[in-house]
Amino acid sequence: MSREFSSLRWITATVVVGALSYAAYRTVVITNSDPRPPGNVYDVMALRERDDLNVLFILVDTLRAHRMSAYGYERETSPMFDYLAETGLLFRQHTAQSSWTKTSMASLWTGLNPVRTGVLKSLHGIPEEATMPAEIFREAGFHTTGIWRNGWVDPNFGFSKGFEVYARPAFRVRGERFRRENPHVTLEGTDYDVAEAAREFLRIHGDERWFLYLHMMDVHQYLYSDDSALFGSEYSDVYDNSIHHNDSVIGELLTDMAEQGLLEKTLIVWTSDHGEAFNERGFEGHAQTVYRETTDVPFLISFPFQLAPGLVVESTTGGVDVWPTVLDLLGLPALPDADGRSRRREILAAGGHGLAPDPGSAFAHIEQGWGDIKKKKTRPMVTVVDGSHRFVSTVGPDGELREELFDSNADPAELENVLDDEKEVADSMRALLGDYHESRPAPWGDASEIEIDELELNHLRALGYKID
Ligand SMILES: [Zn+2]
Repeated sequence: MSREFSSLRWITATVVVGALSYAAYRTVVITNSDPRPPGNVYDVMALRERDDLNVLFILVDTLRAHRMSAYGYERETSPMFDYLAETGLLFRQHTAQSSWTKTSMASLWTGLNPVRTGVLKSLHGIPEEATMPAEIFREAGFHTTGIWRNGWVDPNFGFSKGFEVYARPAFRVRGERFRRENPHVTLEGTDYDVAEAAREFLRIHGDERWFLYLHMMDVHQYLYSDDSALFGSEYSDVYDNSIHHNDSVIGELLTDMAEQGLLEKTLIVWTSDHGEAFNERGFEGHAQTVYRETTDVPFLISFPFQLAPGLVVESTTGGVDVWPTVLDLLGLPALPDADGRSRRREILAAGGHGLAPDPGSAFAHIEQGWGDIKKKKTRPMVTVVDGSHRFVSTVGPDGELREELFDSNADPAELENVLDDEKEVADSMRALLGDYHESRPAPWGDASEIEIDELELNHLRALGYKID
């Protein structure tokens, strides 16, 4: 792709985003072109030498990869994400470590699989002794701020470690233009609040070196504006509308950052904590199972330069690999004793340099009944994804074990259990799951168990979860 074409695409993405966005934001100045210089895989290797880079971490809650155009969806739900992927680095097969925010985010931040963080139930948190990426950034001289709207990443649960500022954004009333169509979610505010807080942060700290984490919730809430009501009004269509809406909120923020001269010195990391099911196997939503619908999430890294073409890592990667990879690319200290690995090798291989890529594997884990505070009895459901295969092990209500094996090459929707047909594959994946359950503890020991009051419980219930 030529530079000119890239620039044109940038204009297209921002014009579309600008034209479709909420009226108050139509004043956003449209960037004339992508201000980032052209780059190549050598520039990726040389990121370690740079001392001017910021890191923007965008976590879009409940964003399922299969519903994004960059991952082959037929609807154009995510023009901004697609543009960054086409000029940056896309991870094609990326697995969240759970389908529930808290378990997934604990693994993402620590680089440890859920069995090792032990953050598996509603009262569990990351202990004070854990090492978190924000601490590493802060030690390295970055100004660190987290802006979030999901109560599961509340400071109570240990997620604020290393952030100088870690706060919910102020609510702003946005009139009647927004529709909030997930009947279970009554959370206040919108992701415009997150973007506004980010703008404020950048006005004050834009010239310093910074690490900014934005945790967005509009997709979780099925919230969108009239301008993004593009794909219909059925439940599942509305979800797509909200992806488009959220993508445009991010597009506007990035346009402002381009105006501020920040894109040439910012690494953007964009991913999600889990996906969303639409009755593929008899239930909707997330936080219940670890099939593909709720564990396959997007992951991209956008550089302070444009790649043409962008790089694609085809290996199986996981949320636990995100910070090992980013910290390694930037030459910063690694997370201690992580399960996740830097995927720099696969990135260089995708760029035609270095060794052959490691195919990789990833785990996802949900404790069924995690919201049952009183009984405290839960049942694990764990999956391992290894290339095109997914092995799922579920402990049922009576303690019986159910095993399933799916092969996405032959069965992209992963609905046909081929356990009896592919016995050797099943055996090797069962062994991987055995190793998973035998994992050594986290370097800091067990998860902490926190006290939670009725007010906080109600806030979490407002997200649509059943907590008794
Ligand atoms: Zn979530």
